[in-house]
Amino acid sequence: MLFTMNTKAYAAPDATSPLGPFSLDRREPGPHDVQIEILYCGVCHSDIHQARNEWGNSIYPMVPGHEIVGRITKVGDHVTRFKVGDLAGIGCFVDSCRKCPACAAGLEQYCENGMSGTYNGYEQDGKTPTYGGYSTQIVVDEQYTLKVSPNLPLQAVAPLLCAGITTYSPLRHWKVGKGHKVGVMGLGGLGHMAVKFAASFGAEVTMLSTSPSKEADARRLGAHHFALTSDPAVREKLGRHFDFIIDTVSARHDYAATLAMLKTDGVLICVGAPPEPAQVPAFSLIPNRLSIAGSMIGGIRETQEMLDYCAEHNITSDVEVIPIQQINEAYDRMLKGDVKYRFVIDIASLRN
Ligand code: NAP
Ligand code: ZN
Ligand code: ZN
Repeated sequence: MLFTMNTKAYAAPDATSPLGPFSLDRREPGPHDVQIEILYCGVCHSDIHQARNEWGNSIYPMVPGHEIVGRITKVGDHVTRFKVGDLAGIGCFVDSCRKCPACAAGLEQYCENGMSGTYNGYEQDGKTPTYGGYSTQIVVDEQYTLKVSPNLPLQAVAPLLCAGITTYSPLRHWKVGKGHKVGVMGLGGLGHMAVKFAASFGAEVTMLSTSPSKEADARRLGAHHFALTSDPAVREKLGRHFDFIIDTVSARHDYAATLAMLKTDGVLICVGAPPEPAQVPAFSLIPNRLSIAGSMIGGIRETQEMLDYCAEHNITSDVEVIPIQQINEAYDRMLKGDVKYRFVIDIASLRN
């Protein structure tokens, strides 16, 4: 493998220092690779968890970013699906073993031999570190590259690559739609996409939020109802109310209180990934035959399906575009819930 292309980036040097300028070498595109000039990259709360080593698995220096959109600048000799000038997207992983049952089923995110995360991971050789989208370019196998419609604003498409697919996939898996009452817990990057998709699939959607100031936005995004879950009386009223709750909360919270809002046979779908273990008493599940489930992003095929659905139905993320120089401030603001509803980095700011 040749590593010759010097690439500007922003990296976290360790768990406590701010992110700052960094440079790295991307490989020259191999026969099946595409080289992408990155235009926009979304800022996911997982970037913060990992930059700060909150999940305990961080590799430094770390270049975060897994909501990537850009334009193809070079293709390998055997590339068939892309040509120079095409728009392209990269999500949360850049490779997987391609042999295990999960990969064969198009569920590469659950690869039994371990997928290669877009950052904070290793290529399939197990030793070459991966660096994410807070950078000017990336080189990825075409099979792990998504097609992006030219008909939607690119900066608002970037968050679909993680926040979008992470909420689309479980809603599809559990066949959420007409006749279902769905609660979306936490109005942030994932939450605002969950509201849009659940409403678009025909469900009756309630925003479950701890922020009274978000009510008008929740309704504008498509929620039919808004409930302030920090108020126990409000939660009580919603006892045994929902068929599904999709929980996008990034910090420690009360899972038992959330389960109490589910009907018999209801499912609590956890996508939010707080570092602390959840307290789930058996008796919060038993009396109502409840299930608690997890879901991680989505496979390549389903991510493409989601992007195509969004292009067809004009669904994008509500974004605040920032230059890379404001990334540390953006992390601080996200931790305070002060983002409507996804920060997206304009990578042009990194080229100057
Ligand atoms: P985000 O934009 O920061 O949104 C998180 C939301 O959670 C906040 O807006 C807030 O909503 C709520 N919240 C935060 N602290 C809370 C607390 N202490 N108690 C109750 N609610 C609280 O984050 P995000 O990017 O959407 O990511 C959310 C979580 O999903 C993160 O843990 C992330 O790592 C995880 N994630 C998982 C996957 C996956 O594949 N499963 C993929 C991407 C991200 P309100 O103000 O409305 O209460
Ligand atoms: Zn993410
Ligand atoms: Zn595999």
